[in-house]
Amino acid sequence: MIDICIIGGGAAGMTAAICAKEKNPSLDVLIIEKKEQMGKKILASGNGKCNLTNIRCQNYRQTLAFFAHLGLLTRTDEEGRVYPYTEEARAVYTAMEKRIGILGIRTETSSQVLAVDKKEHFQIHTAKDCFEARKLLIACGGKAGPQFGTTGDGSKLAKQLGHHVTRLVPVLTAIDVKEDNRDLAGIRVKACVSLCHRGEIIAEETGELQFTKTGVSGICVFNLSRFLLLPQGKTIKDGFDDYRILIDFFPGKDNLTEVLLERSQMKGFEREHLLDFLVRGPIAERIYQLSKGDIKEMARLLRHFPLSPKGAKGWDYAQVTKGGVCLDEIDLTAMESKITKDLYFAGEVVDYDGPCGGYNLQYAFETGMLAGKEMANE
Ligand SMILES: Cc1cc2nc3c(=O)[nH]c(=O)nc-3n(C[C@H](O)[C@H](O)[C@H](O)COP(=O)(O)OP(=O)(O)OC[C@H]3O[C@@H](n4cnc5c(N)ncnc54)[C@H](O)[C@@H]3O)c2cc1C
Repeated sequence: MIDICIIGGGAAGMTAAICAKEKNPSLDVLIIEKKEQMGKKILASGNGKCNLTNIRCQNYRQTLAFFAHLGLLTRTDEEGRVYPYTEEARAVYTAMEKRIGILGIRTETSSQVLAVDKKEHFQIHTAKDCFEARKLLIACGGKAGPQFGTTGDGSKLAKQLGHHVTRLVPVLTAIDVKEDNRDLAGIRVKACVSLCHRGEIIAEETGELQFTKTGVSGICVFNLSRFLLLPQGKTIKDGFDDYRILIDFFPGKDNLTEVLLERSQMKGFEREHLLDFLVRGPIAERIYQLSKGDIKEMARLLRHFPLSPKGAKGWDYAQVTKGGVCLDEIDLTAMESKITKDLYFAGEVVDYDGPCGGYNLQYAFETGMLAGKEMANE
């Protein structure tokens, strides 16, 4: 009989194992991991640098203390994003893996949990074995980035133990648009980008935006993708018709009509050259075409450049899953199930998603710490 079984050796599962074993070293703790190695997503995170938390997160100090205790030095950038001092994701992974080894936490890699049930204790079924455990943590992540082992198993296992799961949606990803964007592909601009639904702004982000062959990308677009949701009952074909992306290339600049009128009096700034040096050539060309040469309309389009989203990129490109195990079925002070005793959840398997900048790993570490410490209680 295992004391604590953890399904998923990602950020949340590894953290929970360390916290449980440090609190009560006599416990037998087992992590079951589907991939040949734990922590594959940590290694890929933050473009290989691992943005592990953000000083704007309420509980970021707990995460800093946890990693300081593992001997990891960190640095914080001007946006509040925290990275390992060497800016290598491997440092985060190695610090955790090393402590797992020192504490004698058992690990079963290349082992996918296929089913769980509970009689007196939990039965955890893999293709080869059936493990029995007193306490169980589901920390299998969501569905984003299936190449790192996350294919939505956590939701299936949670349902087998009586939980409900909200709709899973890929977020923190690029957005495809209906317009033919090939002429703009590769252009990067600093702008304020709004996502509108039926004419109302529902989310707004300022930052660097990158045009791609099929749409737009960049951190500000990733953050907007959290709000681009297919309405219930709608199909991808027309489900996003009510959404618009509006790009403001000149945030705060209200006198663009005057600027353009003034230019129109200057030599070399004939109508089709009015936008020269204001925006990149292909963008100027698109605005000129849309405005049909009308100065007022050009000025408006410089601040409301429209794109029609046709959906976010899919699971292979998404960094995070929106949706998961219903929050109201979990005691969030302990991450324990309100439905099945001695069952716990941590990380992305839960119905939480945050913006780019360290918020999602923070949630995984924070809930992993909480669940680990709670599970160690007799
Ligand atoms: C490319 C990329 C970059 C990212 N960069 C950042 C960043 O810089 N900062 C940030 O805050 N967030 C980032 N994220 C998001 C962040 O990595 C995740 O939110 C976080 O890792 C979730 O932690 P988790 O432990 O819940 O799940 P995961 O880290 O996904 O771990 C879940 C583990 O469970 C295993 N598993 C799944 N099913 C089973 C099963 N049936 N049996 C056994 N094991 C199973 C998986 O193989 C996996 O190892 C990034 C995500 C991606 C994809």
